[in-house]
Amino acid sequence: MKLALIGFGQAGGKIVDEFVAYERRTGLDIFSAPVAVNTAKTDLHGLEHVPTDNRVLIGQARVKGHGVGADNELGAEIAEQDIDEVQAALDEIPVHEVDAFLIVAGLGGGTGSGGAPVLAKHLKRIYTEPVFGLGVLPAADEGGIYTLNAARSFQTFVRESDNVLVFDNDAWRQTGESMRGGYDEINREIVRRFGMLFGAGETVGNDRVAESVVDSSEIINTLAGGGVSTVGYAAESVRTTDDGGLRSRIRRDGDDAFDETNTTNRITSLVRKAALGRLTLPCDLSGTERSLLVVGGPPGQLDRKGIERGRSWLEEETGSMEVRGGDYPIPDAETVASAVLFSGVHKVPRIKELQRVAIEARENIDRLQAESDDNLDRLLDEGSEEIAPLY
Ligand code: GDP
Repeated sequence: MKLALIGFGQAGGKIVDEFVAYERRTGLDIFSAPVAVNTAKTDLHGLEHVPTDNRVLIGQARVKGHGVGADNELGAEIAEQDIDEVQAALDEIPVHEVDAFLIVAGLGGGTGSGGAPVLAKHLKRIYTEPVFGLGVLPAADEGGIYTLNAARSFQTFVRESDNVLVFDNDAWRQTGESMRGGYDEINREIVRRFGMLFGAGETVGNDRVAESVVDSSEIINTLAGGGVSTVGYAAESVRTTDDGGLRSRIRRDGDDAFDETNTTNRITSLVRKAALGRLTLPCDLSGTERSLLVVGGPPGQLDRKGIERGRSWLEEETGSMEVRGGDYPIPDAETVASAVLFSGVHKVPRIKELQRVAIEARENIDRLQAESDDNLDRLLDEGSEEIAPLY
């Protein structure tokens, strides 16, 4: 499908940058004129692939290119004030060629957390195309303020968008890695999963009409209806050996094991692994409203029966009859991969926990603020009878 892609804030910009790199690597044409928006000049400078003309610095009058710290109320205010500057960048996009908008942001900070919901609201007012969000939740150890920001932004972003696809940094945090190295790996994972979903139906260099290729309306219909989504993914490399046979190797979350199953079984097992392995937002899949299965790889490996079986299994697992699916032929691919989009998930302990910690953080902040006011009053009151203020 064709997306108008907008990264808001630092995380949003970096993920969009990674999407553009993915697009170049694969030769796909998914993103129309990717845009990065930020209040911090240095973050925009740090991007490598988003064209310079598509980097929009907002809030210069208020924060002079230095960012908003983690103040997402200020982030939202600035986005509202400078929405015309963002719109001007989007005016360059041929919107008639676009199937949907995708706004990417880390929800724990200030610029993206505040700005993404504001932009979603604006786009929905102006355009008829659906507006989707890709929201990144902060890791639990980032602290109360990030959690509070994320909880507030999340509920607003969900309200303003047609669907928010969620990636939870907490579920993907690696110990013993530098933050930057960790994020680079995490961003590649985000792009691998969402790139496969959005890339389906945009196959390049291949005239073969897939038997049941996924088209953009199926992705849109899966996401339509609002709510929150999560994505599962699993891949297995298939390489031709010298004697022309196939050797396979399973790769899932770093665990390697060898598997000799035939193509049907390979696909059904990849669907199970995608659904039961680590999701972008871990949750209980029962009660999922709609799902979409995409199986990609070399055309000869995309067994129709396997995909059908995978779909039936997903119907049982989610308790939903609305399971779409199709193949995504990639002629020179060395892996067979399955990506499953679960939309309208609502049994998500992580969101409940985020809200609980956010309420606690709000109470702590209010208490400390009140104490701090009292302490300052006490400090200044001392001797105020004798010492008159200057004016
Ligand atoms: P902003 O620039 O004010 O919008 O804030 P940031 O985007 O820097 O940070 C917001 C949150 O996004 C942080 O709390 C992190 O949880 C997360 N984050 C920051 N950078 C990255 C990144 O490169 N990748 C991912 N996955 N998350 C990030």
